[in-house]
Amino acid sequence: MRRKLFLSTFAVILVTLVLSMLSVNLVFERQFTTYVTKTTESSISQLPERLSSIYINNGNHWDKASLDEMSHYLPMGTQITLKTPEDKIITILNNPMAEMMQESMMGMGMNYSIEAWKTQTFTIKGAEGTTIAKAEVRYPSNARLLNPDDISFVTAVYRSLLLAGLAALVIGLLLSLWTSNQLVKPLRHLTYAVRRVGLGHLDEKVVISSHDEVGELANAFNSMADDLKSQENLRKQFTVDIVHELRTPLTSLQSYIEAFQDGVLPPNEENLSALSEEIDRLVSLSSDLKDLNIAEIGKLRPELQPVNLLSIIEKVIRNLSPLIHEKNIKLSTDLPPESVMLLADERLLTRLFYNLIHNAYKYTEREGLIKIELFVRNNSVEISIEDNGIGIPEEDLPFIFERFYRAEKSRARETGGTGIGLALVKQILLLHDGTIQVNSTVGQGTKFIVNLPLKKEITS
Ligand code: ADP
Repeated sequence: MRRKLFLSTFAVILVTLVLSMLSVNLVFERQFTTYVTKTTESSISQLPERLSSIYINNGNHWDKASLDEMSHYLPMGTQITLKTPEDKIITILNNPMAEMMQESMMGMGMNYSIEAWKTQTFTIKGAEGTTIAKAEVRYPSNARLLNPDDISFVTAVYRSLLLAGLAALVIGLLLSLWTSNQLVKPLRHLTYAVRRVGLGHLDEKVVISSHDEVGELANAFNSMADDLKSQENLRKQFTVDIVHELRTPLTSLQSYIEAFQDGVLPPNEENLSALSEEIDRLVSLSSDLKDLNIAEIGKLRPELQPVNLLSIIEKVIRNLSPLIHEKNIKLSTDLPPESVMLLADERLLTRLFYNLIHNAYKYTEREGLIKIELFVRNNSVEISIEDNGIGIPEEDLPFIFERFYRAEKSRARETGGTGIGLALVKQILLLHDGTIQVNSTVGQGTKFIVNLPLKKEITS
């Protein structure tokens, strides 16, 4: 990147310099050519008068000395061929300086040769108005800079342009070096951090204070590292929880079976139902996990069919009421008398309400209260499950629908939570175009409000 920036700055400065020199050259060429040609032509227009006054002042003679003196004032590159009216050459006049200058310029390696000419012929009149001679004047039509002052001016302009170009080059290169350093340094930090994260060091952070695109990239990287870290933590925590979840019922099953084998416990109905409860726990855990996994990879296909939501909720309440009564929790319901039909997957909706009501039971102290209500609105049905249990801390609320997330981990372990239930609830609602809201205050209770759309074709 550093080399690219360096080269592009160099190229920009070089192109600017060459273009400005070319444009200066063009302007000078145009302006000076027109100017020099005009001055030449205006001084040439005075020639007939000057020649005739030389002739008259010298007693109607062509005086060589006076003619030579006049030739010193001829414009550069101009040549006069003075002829008699009968076309006999009297003399040829040149500015003697022009030849000397051209030679010295050739010596300096500059080519100032004249490429195109113009000619004018004048009649020179004597004192009585008679024609005394003809003057054929030849002068450069695209006059070059021959005046030493003009040349040194143009050279000075070129020199200062070159100097400015050189200064721009040096400053530009220093600036490009500085800019590339500013850009490259944070990018190197980022590359290093990305490599470290790739090697599993998820704590890696980049500190970049700039607010430009690189700063944005660093922020995005940091939050990605944070996400990876929290996913990693959740995964680790989940493994610990799963091991715990599996071990508890398995150990209990093992002890029961050993007790049966040793004849310590009789395999009567009571003991067998305790065994079956443990197996139920294992089955529900594995089915929660399976559903969540399939839902998250987008392969859970709900079997939509007309179902009566009321009977689903009543069934879940029936299943959980022994547990609820055992904890002396008061259960109050406000459900409509008539059935509430919607298009849904019965098994998934049963799991959804089971998880929510089971949570209300889990996180409510003995003698507590659970309230379940169902209201049919215009196009949807609203079901709320409210408890006066331990509540959820405000800082945990945004995360409770993430898988494996449990508020106050030690407490959740006591209640046997794994942090899968609500994640599954969210996935099931997504499949049914439903929504869920939660309001909770620590120590006062929690209220989950589920909204499910009512399908027109069924309600009508
Ligand atoms: P878990 O198996 O731990 O209950 P969930 O996904 O069902 O997992 O719930 C996630 C977390 O949300 C729980 O660990 C618990 O901290 C909190 N939570 C859920 N429902 C309630 C509730 N009714 N009262 C208090 N806390 C709750």
